[in-house]
Formats: sequence, C-alpha cells, structure tokens
Amino acid sequence: MTSGIPISNEDLIKELQRVATLLNNDTLVRSEFAKHGKYGTATIEKRFGSWNGAVALAGLNPLRQCDSSVRRTYSRTKFTRRQGGAVLKLAILKRDRYKCLLCGASPANDDDVELHIDHIKPVARGGKTTEFNLWVLCGTCNRKKGKTYDVDVAKLAANYIAKRYFESVSK
Ligand SMILES: [Zn+2]
Repeated sequence: MTSGIPISNEDLIKELQRVATLLNNDTLVRSEFAKHGKYGTATIEKRFGSWNGAVALAGLNPLRQCDSSVRRTYSRTKFTRRQGGAVLKLAILKRDRYKCLLCGASPANDDDVELHIDHIKPVARGGKTTEFNLWVLCGTCNRKKGKTYDVDVAKLAANYIAKRYFESVSK
C-alpha cells in the first residue's frame, strides 16, 4: 500500500490548519477532515504517530475529539488563568520528567540547570497555553530556540507529548 507522490509533513500540517480554518474551529476531528481534507486521515496518523499528535502539531486543540477516558485524565490539568498556571506547570514538569526535552539536562544532575516551560508554538504566533503546546526546556535550549517555530522541533515535541499522553492513559 504505497502512494505514488510523497507528501511532505509540512503539506499535511498545512492541510490540517487549512481545514480547521475553513471550519472556523480550534480543533479538528477525523470525520471533518475526511470530508474536507485533501489527504486521508490514515496518512496523517501514520506520518505523525497519532491523530492527536498531528492535530497538536498543527497548533490545534486535540482535547475535544479524545475518548472520554482520555478527556477525564487531562481535564483536571487544563489551564485556567485563575489557577495562575501553577497546576499546569507542575503537570508539564511531571509529564516531561523534570528534564529538558532537547538536551536532557536536569537539575537532578546539575545545579546550574534551570528548567523553563516553553510554548512550542510561540504565543506571538498564535500558540495556545495548553499541555499540547507546552514543554520543558533548559534555559540554554530555550534561549537558543527563542521565538522561532521550527516544524522539525515541533514534530519532535508533538511525538513526545503524544507518546507520554498515551502512556499515561494506558496505565
Ligand atoms: Zn536543554
């Protein structure tokens, strides 16, 4: 089962964003994409490891389309301004095992390491403050990344988050 012309990851992500914009929605379920998208949902899932991972990578909110057990697990960590973000920060640190996801630096091994919660897609570019758009970086990697939005880095982050997400719900 191979398709002739290779489609780039960027094309797939752009198509997810296009369909979400078309539907004026900040999330995207498979059935809507199947109706309006140019590519198959199976292609997306195969390429990014999971539908949620791809949706998160496109900067969209994957929560609403999850089954109820997944939603239950994560609804408690959902960010609200009133909570001041402390609950969410702790959830992100725990999820990412208190280490930088790019270089692995951790305060557990090195007193000089400072961990930051970073927006994968910067707020200035429309990134949201949700667990799917946040990850842990050390100060050094965070300064290097700055406000850039690199699709490869974002894909790495989305894959990691999707993996940890499904580990946590399968326990
Ligand atoms: Zn680092």
